[in-house]
Amino acid sequence: MQRRTFYPDIKSKEELEEIQLQGLKWTVRHAYEGSDFYRQRFEEAGVSPDDIKTLEDIRKLPFTTAQDLRDGYPFPLRAVPFEKIVRIHASSGTTGKRKVLCYTQKDIDDWLDMFARCYETAGLTPEDRVQIAVGYGVWTAGVGFQLGCERLGAMAIPIGPGNIDMQCQFLEDFQSTALCCTASMALLMAEEVDRRGLRDRISLKKVIFGSERSSEAMRRKIKELLGVEDIFDITGLTELYGPGAGIDCPKHEGIHYWADYYILELLDPETLEPVPPGEVGEMVVTTLKKEAAPLIRYRTRDLTRLIPHPCSCGSIFPMHDRILGRSDDMFIIRGVNVYPSHIDEIISGFAEVGSEYQIILERGADGKDYMTLKVERERGLDPARDEEVAGRIAEEIKKRVLVSCRVQIVDYGSLPRTERKSKRVFDYRE
Ligand SMILES: [Zn+2]
Repeated sequence: MQRRTFYPDIKSKEELEEIQLQGLKWTVRHAYEGSDFYRQRFEEAGVSPDDIKTLEDIRKLPFTTAQDLRDGYPFPLRAVPFEKIVRIHASSGTTGKRKVLCYTQKDIDDWLDMFARCYETAGLTPEDRVQIAVGYGVWTAGVGFQLGCERLGAMAIPIGPGNIDMQCQFLEDFQSTALCCTASMALLMAEEVDRRGLRDRISLKKVIFGSERSSEAMRRKIKELLGVEDIFDITGLTELYGPGAGIDCPKHEGIHYWADYYILELLDPETLEPVPPGEVGEMVVTTLKKEAAPLIRYRTRDLTRLIPHPCSCGSIFPMHDRILGRSDDMFIIRGVNVYPSHIDEIISGFAEVGSEYQIILERGADGKDYMTLKVERERGLDPARDEEVAGRIAEEIKKRVLVSCRVQIVDYGSLPRTERKSKRVFDYRE
């Protein structure tokens, strides 16, 4: 195995947990002493830094939310004096105030170490040439991908998104070996490289995606057209430094996340209790080393599940699944939490139906709740098979989501299309 410079020398789960406990104690005390916001929150919750004696004590701590960041605008959660702050970043929020996060020099260094570790996990070395086609500006993407690359010692080619002509020229002239971009940008590039017949003149080996979700079909197409060996998914959010909080390794059994920098809890978004291992829950993060804007039980609203077994690569770092959606979209039927993204994932496994769907929730005359899934028949398929296909989809949903539902297959193109995010769930229960 190659030497991994940005991998800590942690040998056991116990050793990792000890690092987490020390980090948790430090963070709680630091937040309590440095931030009026946190001190007030802790006092309201009746908890003090001395109450944190084990990792389980994290459950005594109050939650923080995106609303807290907006309320604290322009410098929310700040826990150090301004003279220690060397940079700010902001998320590209769509409504209201942006989420702004402060960084000390140590925060920046920690972030870049995590990012360099991501690149190493994807098998990059100082020999690599990394074409960075993500957005530069006040957000974390461009600068994170670039400085992380430089931290690793590889060659950064900072180009930003768009500008397909220049992208293609750089791929050829600089012989870039890795491309960092969104999944849709990668698809665009792949089609363009194919159209221009460049595949044999470029040396691209790896593609690293930012946070956007991508389907298996999309990844296959990008691999094939670009001729790359592997595609990786980097995770992260501005509140948690930025991208670089985790990545899948070449085994692709899940996203390894950097548990020496943050604790990840997966909680039921309704009850805020932990979900059983392997079940879908909301990602709640607590940082272990962050100085300027520490996060304590920050509700990300992102959904995923923990992968309860270790990766076959042998890494000590635990894994979570890809991000499956947002907890805001969750609904409850017959006591079961259901996420539209989970249904989405299930129907994408059936070639006989398209990707458009609607979920209808109704209350029957018997007082019980009923769920109907409407999904479009794939173009050109025989409606005579509808009943059989619907039966198999319903069975798969029952098996994986634990909810009975009626599946109705409708004609291709009969569900509404919109350029904005489509409304998927129609809840007619009172
Ligand atoms: Zn692995």
